[in-house]
Amino acid sequence: MSELKNPSEIAREALKRLAARQLAPTPANYQACYNEIANLPNVAPFPEPSLRQLAAALVARNEAQEKALAVLDAEIGRRSWHGVQEALIAFTNAAGGPGKEAGTIFVPNPLPALALPKDFTAKLARLVEGVLPALGDDNPRIPEMASDFLAALRQPELDLPCVQDKLASFSHQISFAAEEQVEIRDALLNLLHLIIENIGELVLDDSWLKGQVDGLLAAVAPPLTLRHLDDMGRRLRDVMAKQSEAKNRTVVAQEELRQMLAAFIERLSTMSESSGTFQGRLEESAERIGKVTRIEELAPLLREVIAATRNMAEDTAQARDQLKGLQDKVLATEAELVQLHLELDSASAMARHDPLTDALNRKGLDEALEREIASVRRKETPLAVCLLDIDNFKRLNDSLGHAVGDQALIYLADLARKCMRSTDTLARYGGEEFVILMPDTPLELGIETMVRLQRELTRNLFMSGKEKLLITFSAGVAQLATGETGKEAIRRADQAMYLAKRSGKNRVLGG
Ligand code: GH3
Ligand code: MG
Ligand code: MG
Repeated sequence: MSELKNPSEIAREALKRLAARQLAPTPANYQACYNEIANLPNVAPFPEPSLRQLAAALVARNEAQEKALAVLDAEIGRRSWHGVQEALIAFTNAAGGPGKEAGTIFVPNPLPALALPKDFTAKLARLVEGVLPALGDDNPRIPEMASDFLAALRQPELDLPCVQDKLASFSHQISFAAEEQVEIRDALLNLLHLIIENIGELVLDDSWLKGQVDGLLAAVAPPLTLRHLDDMGRRLRDVMAKQSEAKNRTVVAQEELRQMLAAFIERLSTMSESSGTFQGRLEESAERIGKVTRIEELAPLLREVIAATRNMAEDTAQARDQLKGLQDKVLATEAELVQLHLELDSASAMARHDPLTDALNRKGLDEALEREIASVRRKETPLAVCLLDIDNFKRLNDSLGHAVGDQALIYLADLARKCMRSTDTLARYGGEEFVILMPDTPLELGIETMVRLQRELTRNLFMSGKEKLLITFSAGVAQLATGETGKEAIRRADQAMYLAKRSGKNRVLGG
């Protein structure tokens, strides 16, 4: 920068700089630019008006303070920072009551600590208490830190720095704990997968168990919900019950077969014994026959041979009968075992699901209702219960056959599942009646869902061979009332469904 000595030049240059920097044209900004160009230290201007205002606000309580105020006034007039400072110190010190040493500066108490709203700290405390159970109890530091933090939060006089300190340590700890919980959950899920896959490999020959295992694998796939886990628990219990029943029956059958085999072997040995005797007798007779010289001697010998042969034949026949009996028994046991497996298969498969549509059956529905109602009571959310009945289903069965009717039921169930949320439950209530449970759903929304399903049925016609068929249904929807049982809600939905039938079918009414 060139040396600029001339004040008017400096002033002109300062104005240019003010404009170039787009600074507001205030005296202070101008002064700053001027000082910068003139290479002068940028001293802040003396704030006379502000200081006069301050001096006017000060009230003298004694003579010494009065004097100090007069000095202050004069020093402001002289624009002396140092003088102002001295006068203010004199004024403050002159305020001292008894015991105040001269020359010491009176320092006011620090500002009172900032207070947080009471309900904020209470909510924060509740949050900590609510989060704690989710963090597991493996790390004793966590409850310790939590109770430290809670204690700090619940002090009548909140010590903010202390609360901040405790909060920092607590949140540091829980971030680790939360990560650990996620890892534990993932590891458990992996383990569960392994176990289920192993069960699947062990029982590949059993179609029902294979189905259950597939269901289990689907149930442990994220996102993990309580509903999924609950379903998984029930399915596992079914698998285990089925296995132990089958095992007991197999043990009994094995024992029976073992006993039969033992009896058979014994019989075989007595047969060979008697055939040995028979052979001995024949050899002996043959020897004696060889020695016979007269015909009269032959007759008794032949009689002996005939008797021995008859005995042998009878023995053999008896053995054959016995063997046949044994064989029949083995076959019967085998058939019984096959039958037992079949019965177990169908009984277990139908434990909670309807085998035709894979919707829940009545038992499954009862359990699902129990679960949903418990959740409604806990969360105070609405539960919509819907009952639908296919219109004129008998006519469809009569005209196209039962098998087509079955396909129509499967079709409806599949379409209903597509319209429902994953949290909704589909159950086959009767022949061509279904119940749908919709958690977190008020009545109007439940009705809307069913109307949507009606529209879907219209849009996607059911195909029977080349024939397109429109399936319609009538439905009643009820919202579970306070204190009402699931059965009562279904009954109300049923009444509404009945009204829908009465008023022309293919409609949805609220109960
Ligand atoms: P509405 O419109 O009044 O409901 O008349 P609908 O014919 O549907 O009712 P109805 O109760 O008279 O007949 C129901 C029929 O459903 C009778 C029964 O044969 C048939 N049904 C029940 N279960 C099954 C099933 O599993 N498969 C088949 N194909 N038909 C079934
Ligand atoms: Mg019906
Ligand atoms: Mg019907």
